[in-house]
Amino acid sequence: MPETILRVALPTPLMRLFDYLPPDDGPEPSPGQRVRVPFGRSERIGIITELTVTPSVPVESLRRSKSVLDEQPLLDPELRRLLDWASGYYQYPPGEVYAAALPAALRRGRGPATGHERWQPTTNCSADDVERLDKRASLQRRVLAALLSSPDGLDAATLATHSAGWRSAVDALCDKGLVERSRGELWPSTPIPAGQPGPPLNPAQVRAAAAINTARAFAAFLLAGVTGSGKTEVYLTCIEKQLQADRQSLVLVPEIGLTPQLLERFQSRLGIRVAVLHSGLNDSERLLAWTAAATGQAKVIIGTRSAIFTPLPKPGLIIVDEEHDASLKQQEGFRYSARDLAVWRARQLRIPVVLGSATPAFETLENAQSGRYELLELPERPGTATHPSVHLIDLRRHPARDGLSEPLLARIRQHLDANGQVLVYLNRRGFSPVLMCTACGAIAECARCDARMVYHRQRSQVICHHCGQQRTAPEACPDCGEPMLPVGQGTERIETALREAFPDDPLVRIDRDTTRRRGAFERAIAAVRSGEARILLGTQMLTKGHDFPDVTLVGIVDADQGLFGTDFRAGERFAQLFVQVSGRAGRASRPGEVCIQTLYPEHPLLRLLVASDYRAFATQAMAERRQAGWPPFGYLALLRAEASQRQHAFGFLEAARALADDVRLDQVSLLGPAPAPMERRQGRYRGQLLIRADSRARLQSFLQAWRPGLDELREARRARWSLDVDPVELF
Ligand code: ADP
Ligand code: ZN
Repeated sequence: MPETILRVALPTPLMRLFDYLPPDDGPEPSPGQRVRVPFGRSERIGIITELTVTPSVPVESLRRSKSVLDEQPLLDPELRRLLDWASGYYQYPPGEVYAAALPAALRRGRGPATGHERWQPTTNCSADDVERLDKRASLQRRVLAALLSSPDGLDAATLATHSAGWRSAVDALCDKGLVERSRGELWPSTPIPAGQPGPPLNPAQVRAAAAINTARAFAAFLLAGVTGSGKTEVYLTCIEKQLQADRQSLVLVPEIGLTPQLLERFQSRLGIRVAVLHSGLNDSERLLAWTAAATGQAKVIIGTRSAIFTPLPKPGLIIVDEEHDASLKQQEGFRYSARDLAVWRARQLRIPVVLGSATPAFETLENAQSGRYELLELPERPGTATHPSVHLIDLRRHPARDGLSEPLLARIRQHLDANGQVLVYLNRRGFSPVLMCTACGAIAECARCDARMVYHRQRSQVICHHCGQQRTAPEACPDCGEPMLPVGQGTERIETALREAFPDDPLVRIDRDTTRRRGAFERAIAAVRSGEARILLGTQMLTKGHDFPDVTLVGIVDADQGLFGTDFRAGERFAQLFVQVSGRAGRASRPGEVCIQTLYPEHPLLRLLVASDYRAFATQAMAERRQAGWPPFGYLALLRAEASQRQHAFGFLEAARALADDVRLDQVSLLGPAPAPMERRQGRYRGQLLIRADSRARLQSFLQAWRPGLDELREARRARWSLDVDPVELF
């Protein structure tokens, strides 16, 4: 009988699997287990994807794997199907895709998490035994006495308080048969004290929850409702239902949406410990949460993007909150969309998936309109949310000083006097985006990027926001010696201007510069919620997930920044942002107001947003997309390349384009190569080639035929390149 061959996904940049002979001894290999194998002159850890008897290379040339690391598969067949599919769809090496699905500790060979070690006296051990111990073994005596007085046993942390040498004392006591070791629970099931029960659902919420709860197999729902309309209450109701059936729920949120408050709300409402997975965890924390989910002990898992790869032995429901958020798409390496994978996975698992948003992505709206997803709408709650009134401030008639026009300052004064809170939004940190010579017009530029250095006055530095380069801000022009002048504004400058205009009203600024220190963000949010801060100034960090019920005025300093993006999604992004920011105003019983400063008050997009709402805007903007064939009415992939010499990046892209001509181009068109919107970044030249098709299937079959040839191109050795399927950013 031919020997079984292990087919292994190994973390390498190659688009293939690797065959190995099974190890000489150890556990019986089966798919989903990790295996340690020789690779070149070193060793690697991979995942067995299948067992086969037909190796892809002659059996004599196969190497023998060293050892199988797991008794049980770490990845079940369902998850492996997801990973195999994702590797094919996103054209990314299977070994890297498998690696992305595992916590780092498992990738490095550690075992899954186990409960804490504990020690307790054996049943026949008593106080007499302490006396019988050698008088000189004083530590053993102390440790045994401590253990006898705590019948549930003690863990390592507690024992360490007795002495640094406790472990050898405990080992000696174990050898004497006086003490035994056990393991505590991995994921204690003791209920968390329940907080307030949820409010009774309103009729729209009841309808939504019922639709989701009665789905007996795969069904995708778009839960559309503004912030505060009660989407989270619907999620909680559906999760409770899953808990009653002993099934797991996976909740994906954007990076910035996973706050301690959200976790607290879920835990106290559901009365159980919720597993959390996000990038801020250390390896052990991540491993523990992952293991708790993989063993079915954690029933509710909340996480950011990569949590979509959490094993779910008892799957019941997947929720993607703020589904339009760009952070759900990985922007480097394995460029997957966690939202799209969530829908694919739910279909495989035959369970419902809920996509929630106040401002759904056009892709999702189109799926709802075509009937693939069921639309569930939550109207704004009566009595609380009166639509804010929106005013455009024409900056041509009312020039701004330090970024703030007279009418905006007057509004702020009014709202502060009426005891309202004010939110001022500008998505640019630093003092000014440009530092310019007053005489010759020279501008501080980054030496490594096609970008201007942003002036940070508090730090007296100019910083490139693209590559992080920083240097002392020049006081005089290096060319002509005349003074340098800050042009334009960032949050730092607006802060100065606001403090000058409203010296008696406490202000907090929230951006990446002010929240670098641990806890600073939470403190700032708390100051706003307690009412201590009257003016809240910030960047995009403010716009998600946080309720500021006493904010009555929102001022958008610069609408034009968002209106004229290079990307076809610029309008959609701006509208989402506008709704998210203006949604902060007047949530409680007070009517809210929004003031937008712009040089282009007649811009059709602005007018539409001011006059109606996101959906009306979306209808119009989607009609334009349909005409142009952009997503969701066309399907894209982006080939990016960069190199320290321009001709190497473009040489590769040209060769890639020529290669495409050899592949049958059935209703697939190529645009480019073209320079990236910022052609030079960190000293490297960047270009791109856009691929567009009328259907997903056509795009996929083209990529499958084209992609293998890219690896083979001679020019590929001189450039760093990547392929982005369904890109959300076109740079
Ligand atoms: P969203 O997730 O859409 O932002 P939430 O579910 O967080 O909305 O609800 C916003 C606030 O309104 C929360 O404080 C929530 O407890 C409350 N709320 C939601 N639904 C109801 C309801 N049916 N009755 C009373 N209060 C509700
Ligand atoms: Zn730079």
